[in-house]
Amino acid sequence: MLTLMAVHAHPDDEVMGTGGSFAKYAAEGVRTVLVTCTNGEQGDGPGGVKPGEPGHSEDEVAKQRLAELAESVGHLTITHLELLGYHDSGMDGWAGNHRPEAFANADFDQAVAKVAALMEHYRPQVVVTYDANGNYGHPDHIQAHRVAVAAAEATGIPAKFYYTAVPRRIIQASYAAMKEQGMDPGWDLPDDFGTPDELITTVVDTHEQADVKLAALRAHGSQGDSISLLSMPPETQRLAMSAEHFIRVFSKVAAPDHEDDLFAGLR
Ligand SMILES: [Zn+2]
Repeated sequence: MLTLMAVHAHPDDEVMGTGGSFAKYAAEGVRTVLVTCTNGEQGDGPGGVKPGEPGHSEDEVAKQRLAELAESVGHLTITHLELLGYHDSGMDGWAGNHRPEAFANADFDQAVAKVAALMEHYRPQVVVTYDANGNYGHPDHIQAHRVAVAAAEATGIPAKFYYTAVPRRIIQASYAAMKEQGMDPGWDLPDDFGTPDELITTVVDTHEQADVKLAALRAHGSQGDSISLLSMPPETQRLAMSAEHFIRVFSKVAAPDHEDDLFAGLR
């Protein structure tokens, strides 16, 4: 049986980088396993209220986000959801970074053992996580990366191992499209933002999964990140949804340098 496992940090991270692949492979009969490391306590509360502001309750936010995750998992037809239950550390520089229960400060070996046990249980041929910078520097994403890499090494189970990527070309095109539509992104795009296009090894066509991806994104409607993605012009959304990009870190099977299938060489 073919199995895909993605190790993500927060409820909602499963959608943009891997949601289309989850849906596409599940439709082919692949077993799909989402490992979500934290409960997302440092996410937005009702009305966009941020952690530490009045009206933000970590327990309520976690409850809401786990319910949203369950709905998203349904849209993406993810067959197995595994929650590690760690506490969200918050963005880099936030007060929550230093709390002992935060995922970024969790006992590393214990966290690796949990993910390794899931790899032993599901025996995924393909494992996906973030790059060493957590794709954008979030401490929980960096920790998820370290834990997934160490669990893959310890078990030797994945035959192919990937980092999610957003090509610089697509980020620049999306940014330009937003400006053309008269939307103010609210920040300047650094030239080096996103993954250099030449590092991308794997592009999975997900245009047929764009609708379920959008539905999954809408399921995470309490979060500002989802709201801003959903407010992008439709063409920009389509561009962002129609393919998922990966950097292949290793493959123990022969596979083309540039592939359109995470399971290339395994079928
Ligand atoms: Zn995240």
